[in-house]
Amino acid sequence: MLNSPLLQQISSYIDGKWINASNRGVIAVTNPANGEHLADVPDLGATETTSAVEAAARALLARASLDERARWLTQIHQALLENKHELARIITLEQGKPLKESIAEVEYAAGFFHFCAANMGQLESHSLPGRIRGSEWKIHHRPAGVVGLITPWNFPLAMLAKKFASAIAAGCAVVAKPADLTPLTCIALWQILDQFHLPAGRFNLVIGKAGPIGEVLCAHPAVRLISFTGSTVVGRLLMAQAAPYVKRLALELGGNAPFMVFDDADIEAAVNALMLNKFRCAGQTCVCANRVLVARSVQKDFTDAIAARVAALRVGDGLDASTDIGPLINRGAVEKVNRHVTDALSKGGRQIVEVKLDPALSPNGHFRAPVVLGDLPRNAEMLVEETFGPVVGITAFDSDEDAVTLANSTIHGLAAYVFTRNTDRMQRVVSQLRFGHVGLNTGAGPTPEAPFGGMKQSGIGREGGIEGMLEFCESQTTVQL
Ligand code: NAP
Repeated sequence: MLNSPLLQQISSYIDGKWINASNRGVIAVTNPANGEHLADVPDLGATETTSAVEAAARALLARASLDERARWLTQIHQALLENKHELARIITLEQGKPLKESIAEVEYAAGFFHFCAANMGQLESHSLPGRIRGSEWKIHHRPAGVVGLITPWNFPLAMLAKKFASAIAAGCAVVAKPADLTPLTCIALWQILDQFHLPAGRFNLVIGKAGPIGEVLCAHPAVRLISFTGSTVVGRLLMAQAAPYVKRLALELGGNAPFMVFDDADIEAAVNALMLNKFRCAGQTCVCANRVLVARSVQKDFTDAIAARVAALRVGDGLDASTDIGPLINRGAVEKVNRHVTDALSKGGRQIVEVKLDPALSPNGHFRAPVVLGDLPRNAEMLVEETFGPVVGITAFDSDEDAVTLANSTIHGLAAYVFTRNTDRMQRVVSQLRFGHVGLNTGAGPTPEAPFGGMKQSGIGREGGIEGMLEFCESQTTVQL
């Protein structure tokens, strides 16, 4: 069992109280590096989710001022940084990523609370200049109401923080549902919140099977917005379930990022960027390069350079300081990577390098050796579907038009990366790409200060920046003679 000062309770939190029992049994949480059992969390369902929604609706009857909300955000920001190392340890234990990445995740998550606290002024009501049609016009940013937050396992803290900070800033009351594979980080966060004695019912955490919880959040009339991060498949399902109630949805869904290297690119810089971008969280991020598209004339140089770097990666337990790549989240994730690699090789792709796994690694860990594939054919499954694993698959392109067409030939539109030294080419290419986030000679992902989100089937709405805060508001216009 996991022993942590931040996990004195291992349960859900509804209406200001820990819920320690369930007649549906428990959800077992395990360490993906060795299969070790970490904790059992009571499995809650529709009844408890309804109680959480009703508690949240009651909590909203007492308004919290902008100053009060800013104070909560600042408290949370500081507490995350004070507890950074223990939170990071919990993330690594349940998610698997290297400890240094978990620490970076806590700092990144804290940044959203800091940004919102510092920008609460943007939510003040404001008047339009002059008198329009003989009247005074005023715009108010009202809280959306009770909001359901559903988050995935790849960033157990950061994916929640993006939504949670904006929801608090906007004055909403929250019912959060983390992924069953990684609920412990959220429980630790709620233990921190509990110490602040915030108004009961304002921030609820419900852990249990996704289906019944999602159905209540979609159907309960008090929930006015569902903010979801996860797969496109589940995003579509939530849209369908919420449609009869005309409920607002903010969706951060799957990506299939193209990483485009043109013939005039700085190859060394592109390789450095791909190493950082691709292998974070063992390749299990929505913004990581999934399709590496390289101009045919530089394909060999690029492939040789990336293969040399990948060969040096160390796969291991995330708690081991020498680990570059931790385990994948579960056996299914390893099987998906294996399926994509087998498919690519069967269609003419070539294996350039595959890291040798240390035989001393736990046989119960979900480790997958990083691999580089060259000459990836255009009909490979990997070009269509997110691999979500440590695989670099390189496909050659023959012209700028070919590269843009290939990059855009996906239902997704989350992140893309362009490497070229030619500014005109860069501007032309980026204007043709249908992706919400584009890295220009960098593999950098999102930041709390800027809006981030997907085009096409990668989502609806934005997280981060002022836009992320406004996502949780309803604007109300008043006109007065
Ligand atoms: P997922 O299977 O869609 O699960 C995400 C969350 O939805 C989990 O909490 C899950 O609960 C819950 N869920 C599953 N079925 C549900 C239902 N019927 N009703 C309500 N909730 C339901 O996705 P995942 O495998 O955890 O995450 C990987 C995906 O997330 C990838 O596609 C990745 O690209 C995407 N992602 C996108 C972003 C972004 O910013 N756009 C960021 C990170 C990840 P359980 O865990 O209990 O099943």
